[in-house]
Amino acid sequence: MATINENYLKLKAGYLFPEIARRVAAFTEANPEAPIIKLGIGDVTEPLPQACLEAMSKAISEMGDRATFKGYGPEQGYGWLREKIAAQDFQARNCDIDASEIFVSDGAKCDTGNILDIFGKDNRIAVTDPVYPVYVDTNVMAGHTGPANDDGKYEGLVYMPISADNNFTAEIPSDKVDLVYLCFPNNPTGATATQEHLKAWVDYAREHQAIILFDAAYEAFITDESLPHSIYEIEGAKDCAIEFRSFSKNAGFTGTRCAYTVVPKSLTATTSSGETVQLHQLWNRRQSTKFNGVSYIVQRGAEAVYSDAGQAQIKALVGFYLENAKIICDRLSKAGLTVYGGVNAPYVWVKTPNGLSSWEFFDKLLQTANVVGTPGSGFGAAGEGYFRISAFNSRANVEEAMTRVTENFKV
Ligand SMILES: *Cc1c(COP(=O)(O)O)cnc(C)c1O
Repeated sequence: MATINENYLKLKAGYLFPEIARRVAAFTEANPEAPIIKLGIGDVTEPLPQACLEAMSKAISEMGDRATFKGYGPEQGYGWLREKIAAQDFQARNCDIDASEIFVSDGAKCDTGNILDIFGKDNRIAVTDPVYPVYVDTNVMAGHTGPANDDGKYEGLVYMPISADNNFTAEIPSDKVDLVYLCFPNNPTGATATQEHLKAWVDYAREHQAIILFDAAYEAFITDESLPHSIYEIEGAKDCAIEFRSFSKNAGFTGTRCAYTVVPKSLTATTSSGETVQLHQLWNRRQSTKFNGVSYIVQRGAEAVYSDAGQAQIKALVGFYLENAKIICDRLSKAGLTVYGGVNAPYVWVKTPNGLSSWEFFDKLLQTANVVGTPGSGFGAAGEGYFRISAFNSRANVEEAMTRVTENFKV
């Protein structure tokens, strides 16, 4: 008889989004006419940039001609894309990252999960609370945790609470951890990290020989010039950090699928007997074995992001969502609500008013304003009392949702 990976049975069965869907469905059944606006899910709404479309159309034509047809490409991604990424995303910011350290993939979500393949079983792993659930669930699946407690916290993980009290940036742990997940600009809180904060993490990681898994999926939303876009802007980060990037949020590739991971060649970790091994070599082996590269067409689309036209178009796209975020922040603040994030990120993290729980606020917004957001408690116990509103929507929907919410919430 075949047996299963029992770690999967420890997972809190995808509670958050199914529960949202259940409550929305129940409400819609009782109120079929209610004009619901969803500001819940972290998916983009605007169409692809023209430069990407044109590049992909051209690539499709090439695929239809024997002379220019492409079969399997390099598992790590085409050199022309890796070169542009290295030059424009890193070298232009004085980060000493080489094209050979870039691994093009079909998503930062899968990369943040798959990266665990190259790490041992006995690492102490730290995540923030609240957190992007992928980091936690993939560690559960890999058998790095015990069961979850009533708070939804898994035994064996180190949870670092983030709240308004610490500016939504975790305290550097006083004891030793081996792997740390950081996400800036942050999903779900919209918080950012200063140069100093990231430097403190890099110093910590180097002192304890820890590895930082840095998720910069929302890097393009940084508007404050003083904030680092990449962890490699911090001296020493090449010796202690892996960075994840994605074309999903800057260029609207959530349905097109392209991302990349940076694994510097200087990055090492040890075997149980203390031998030092290069992580780049392991990730290269992992990708070459389990992955066959991103579609040629899609990589041409991603390459177009780096053209002058592409850069202007993604700037406009990101600017559009940031304007939505500003409208959300301004209107909610005016109504007396306390809001965080939304300036260098497409997420607004709202303090629930009048001591309401995250789910109570969810129900109130749904019932009174027909607006759907995401309860902060769904991202971790420390998210209780907060609520995430996403700026990924049309301007009309954002305006209408804010009118309804503010009419119903005079705090
Ligand atoms: C959207 C998002 C990503 C991007 O994932 P893709 O698989 O590249 O679409 C990565 N990390 C976080 C925190 C995200 O919210």
